Amino acid sequence: MESRQWGIGVDIGGTKIAVACVDISGRILSERKYPTHTETGYRAIVDTLTEVVKEISEEFDSPPLALGVGVAGQVTAREGEVTFAPNLKWRNVPLQAELQKVLQPQVFVLNDVRAATWGEWKHGAGAGHRDLVCLIIGTGIGGGVVSGGQLLTGRNNCAGELGHMTIDLDGPECTCGNRGCLEALVGGWALAREARRAVSEYPEKTKMLLQLAGGNPDALAASHLVQAALKEDPISKEIIERAIDALIAGCVGIVNGFNPSLLILGGGLGGALHQLTERVRGGVTRRALDAAKEGFDVVTSRLLNDAGVIGAASYALHNCRDFR
Ligand SMILES: [Zn+2]
Repeated sequence: MESRQWGIGVDIGGTKIAVACVDISGRILSERKYPTHTETGYRAIVDTLTEVVKEISEEFDSPPLALGVGVAGQVTAREGEVTFAPNLKWRNVPLQAELQKVLQPQVFVLNDVRAATWGEWKHGAGAGHRDLVCLIIGTGIGGGVVSGGQLLTGRNNCAGELGHMTIDLDGPECTCGNRGCLEALVGGWALAREARRAVSEYPEKTKMLLQLAGGNPDALAASHLVQAALKEDPISKEIIERAIDALIAGCVGIVNGFNPSLLILGGGLGGALHQLTERVRGGVTRRALDAAKEGFDVVTSRLLNDAGVIGAASYALHNCRDFR
């Protein structure tokens, strides 16, 4: 392949690892995906990544300038140490230092949603904006905030943890130890919990919902609720409507708090992202401060599942010493 400036982006999630070669315009040149084996610990992941980076680099005439790694967890700013990643069962993993020991290009480790936010900002739905918020709704809820043309980091590099703002004082417990967080009301794990609760409390009224999960309550997921709600199943609709109300409440707070020109919604949500975006736009337009919503819009992610790898690579290229 022709010689060009490029970097590698890695997205380490709870179930899979994506690795992509990305050029300076944010285009994916080559890509690999692997299952994440959390049971073997982080060293196995470091070994796999080392091999993959070497292998994928052989497709190019020139070496990568930088490597960016997005991890679903809290990461320190300079050292790129993953202090806590519950889905990976990691605590205080010096991932950036470990990778830098064995890899040539400069390595940057950052939170996965902050990486995705960078991707959407530089090469996706947020290109050209100086003030935006990205909210990714998956199993959990993560966020990233760009304000005045800077990705906000905060004192401890955890600015953007928007999934853990309290929406309901007496709400259900969250994985963070608090109650009633946005994530505990709208995240995939929370919706799955509500689906299981409905099936056990109202077995007669939830037959369709259970059927969608193959008759197994343990297999119930947020996507089944969304499917059942789209088929006008009353209980599923009620649960989804409550979740949408909670999401709108959170987004009104985000818009009033950060005054972005754009709120980008991304994540799974069983293919209902576009409908959800419409609902959030309507809700925020009704309820946010007049001054905050002037010139404001809500849009869906453009890079979708590639936002993480494109953003991680682009962030690393932007910050690396070899980039000119
Ligand atoms: Zn929480």
